[in-house]
Amino acid sequence: MIYLCATPIGNLEDITLRVLRILSEVDLVAAEDTRQARKLLNHYEIHVPLVSLHQHNEAARTEQILGWAAEGKQIAVISDAGMPGISDPGGRLAAAANAAEVDITVLPGANAALTGLVLSGLSCDAFFFGGFLPRKSTERKKALEAVRSLKASLIYYEAPHRLVSALTDMAAVLGDRQAAAARELTKWYEETIRGTLGEITAHFSTTAPKGEFVIIVDGYTESVPEGTDETDIRRAVLDEMDAGASKKQAIKSVARRSGLSKNEVYQKALDLPTDL
Ligand code: SAM
Repeated sequence: MIYLCATPIGNLEDITLRVLRILSEVDLVAAEDTRQARKLLNHYEIHVPLVSLHQHNEAARTEQILGWAAEGKQIAVISDAGMPGISDPGGRLAAAANAAEVDITVLPGANAALTGLVLSGLSCDAFFFGGFLPRKSTERKKALEAVRSLKASLIYYEAPHRLVSALTDMAAVLGDRQAAAARELTKWYEETIRGTLGEITAHFSTTAPKGEFVIIVDGYTESVPEGTDETDIRRAVLDEMDAGASKKQAIKSVARRSGLSKNEVYQKALDLPTDL
């Protein structure tokens, strides 16, 4: 059996009794960083052989782990923090184990994305986890465009030195939505900054971002026109544009939602700017 085990994301108490038991019972632990893992295991007085499993040896090591599991060895897999496989090694091993019909299971526990989402106060009904956004602004904006109209909270991991540029691109592509930046979760100096993307960007432009961050952004919400008179329709078009739609997209969407033809909406919005 292969056990993918969640480990703490900062607070060493955030590990389950089951994970501790399995870590002390297995023949071998495959860890993203063996030195980090040794510190964790020493803390719980667990002494077990360790091998590395990181992004540079994942393919070869996966084959080896499957071989050991087929020989009857019990193997636990841990990453540096949180759930293996979530922006961490482990996913490829799970896929390979399933394909090779090797028994694999997950021992749940700490995860920064879900902790940040619940703490943000934004809707947890539906969410999209985007991992780390691309480093280059043009690619980052493309990735954000693709989720602009998702009616789900958006969750991203971000490094402190890219936080402000990521927030700036988010506001440009998604509109100035409600959001939260949660840092150093589960640690005693955990902090969550809430507000619009613009407000959070302004905060971190004067206070240097430090530590590990999760960014959570409100999902897309269609503003339903209250009526079909000119004021309602113009307001609905402007709301859509404010959320990042082009004028053409906004007219199309408002026409669909209001029951008016595109031309009727177009006529009412004629003198609105093409760009906000
Ligand atoms: N596997 C982990 C999980 O389940 O959350 C994520 C690993 S990923 C390589 C590391 C990123 O997760 C960090 O750069 C940060 O964005 C986020 N992260 C991890 N721990 C965090 C914490 N305590 N507070 C805020 N974000 C955290």
